[in-house]
Amino acid sequence: MKIVCVGRNYADHVKEMGNVLPPGAEPLIFLKPPSSLIASGDAIVLPPQSQEVHFEGEIGVFIGTRLKGVNADMATAGIAGFAPANDVTARDLQRKDSQWARAKGFDTFCPVGTPKRVNGALEALELVTRVNGKERQRARSSEMIFPILELLSYISHIMTLEPGDLVLTGTPAGVGRLVSGDEVEVEIVGVGTVRNRVS
Ligand code: MG
Repeated sequence: MKIVCVGRNYADHVKEMGNVLPPGAEPLIFLKPPSSLIASGDAIVLPPQSQEVHFEGEIGVFIGTRLKGVNADMATAGIAGFAPANDVTARDLQRKDSQWARAKGFDTFCPVGTPKRVNGALEALELVTRVNGKERQRARSSEMIFPILELLSYISHIMTLEPGDLVLTGTPAGVGRLVSGDEVEVEIVGVGTVRNRVS
């Protein structure tokens, strides 16, 4: 399986990172390795190579049937379920490197919850991130620059999305640092929560 991630998909997060989204911009995609996956309850391990590890709460989409070169309408059929996810990022290494395999790819850097089917509008999903019980991020999927189905379509024209693949759809504003002992949880309201201790 593969994990395809989308960067810069919420305007307020683009701004907080000091980035700009040029007119006519296309989705920015990158990959995280499957070895970064952990489940709820597993520990996020801070690597010695980084002094600044951030949480990024995101809406995860699990693929159930093969999507290759599909339009947005057809992408719906490929979705197996939604899951809360955390695109854990070594921010200092991300700033240093022009490609993000290192900053995004450490073991334990992709906590993901149990996927669940969603009935109703995909624009109405609500994402909340808390660290030590304190709310740090809150957004609706309607705030995405590129909506979920458009992202799946866009990606499917580049690489075939296979059953079991996971797509992370970007993080809203409010990202911040994790330190040892923190407990971080990402919730999609009505879908589920992924909760991890930082070690
Ligand atoms: Mg992210």
